[in-house]
Amino acid sequence: MINRRQWLYGMGLAAACGTQGSRAATTAAENEPQRASGPAPLDLSHYEPRSMLRVHESRVARSKFPNIDFHTHISVSTKSENGVELSPDREYLGTPQELLAVMDRKNIRAMVNLTGGYENGLAEAVAKYDRSYPGRFYTFTEPSYTHIKEADYPKLQAQAIERAHRDGARGLKILKTLGLYLRDNITSGTLVKIDDARFDPMWDACGQLNIPVAIHISDPIAFFTPTDRFNERYEELNNHPDWSFYGGDFPSNAELIVARNRVIARHPKTNFVTLHVGNFSEDLSNVGENLDRFPNMSVDIAARVGELGRQPVTARKFFDKYQDRILFATDATPHGDEYPQQVFNDQMYEIYYRFLETSDEYFDYAPAKIPPQGRWRIYGIDLPDNILRKVYCENAARLLRI
Ligand SMILES: [Zn+2]
Repeated sequence: MINRRQWLYGMGLAAACGTQGSRAATTAAENEPQRASGPAPLDLSHYEPRSMLRVHESRVARSKFPNIDFHTHISVSTKSENGVELSPDREYLGTPQELLAVMDRKNIRAMVNLTGGYENGLAEAVAKYDRSYPGRFYTFTEPSYTHIKEADYPKLQAQAIERAHRDGARGLKILKTLGLYLRDNITSGTLVKIDDARFDPMWDACGQLNIPVAIHISDPIAFFTPTDRFNERYEELNNHPDWSFYGGDFPSNAELIVARNRVIARHPKTNFVTLHVGNFSEDLSNVGENLDRFPNMSVDIAARVGELGRQPVTARKFFDKYQDRILFATDATPHGDEYPQQVFNDQMYEIYYRFLETSDEYFDYAPAKIPPQGRWRIYGIDLPDNILRKVYCENAARLLRI
């Protein structure tokens, strides 16, 4: 495989991101044939342009109304292999005390910890957070995939949801493991489909218990295209090559979404929160069509403020139309410094608040020197109070029945 870092940096900035289309294939030298003493090519990784725009800058230290962050990761599995969690045991990324300090400063009423695991790991997470600080933390369970090959797995997994509910789980989280990592022999073989019938009893159990399913099934569309000079998330994929789903036996983004939709259609009594703006924030008309088709579907906005904020006119209309079905969420990960767009800290929350509450223009979507997801900036959508109340809190409170 090509060493992409060397390839890009060797080309120099002028060729790598200064031009569009096939013209970018020309080398830096060809672009600047006359300038023997001109500026030297600049590594893209060193480029930190500072905007000369003089526009209004707001600082929103607290959300206007108390919020529920519907999508956070306070605990994670202690053992994973090839993208599949193999242990119920939990590792904790932040203590309740350090989380509560930020929550109180930022007006976060509650955090939903989606990756609570199952069995004893789940019970422990619920005891440490939900039960110790009532009303501040809500923990979700996850499926155990380790027994998937056994004949009674469908029934056992449905029963596991009932047990998790008794142990305090407030919903079920599906990682993109399902559809992109889980295979017939767990970590090898053919990919298991999202709409595999073995999970039907599990989806039904969530409907019967009236707990929501938070489902993540795909990723930014750029992750399904080659990591080359046309990729708008080139630097992100270059930093995290394992995030690319281009090639191999991976399904396309469209196939994943269609399979997820079949599940939503088959289980109309189960509420599905499709994470990351329905996993298609680049195409809000597609997300809107699905919301129109499925009354049991809603979306969260986790880690997609960068996508929503670069299409403020379309996003504002989307929030207007689907104001009862959009949930405030960030994907917050304590000490997640490697992913600045979702690192749990004051600055990250202030960016979300600024996007939702102001009409500020052209600001960073992540607390980072270089925009981590792509080289663009965002605009606020200045939502009115009635929509802010729903998005920040009421929609999540209804689904969580709090
Ligand atoms: Zn997440």
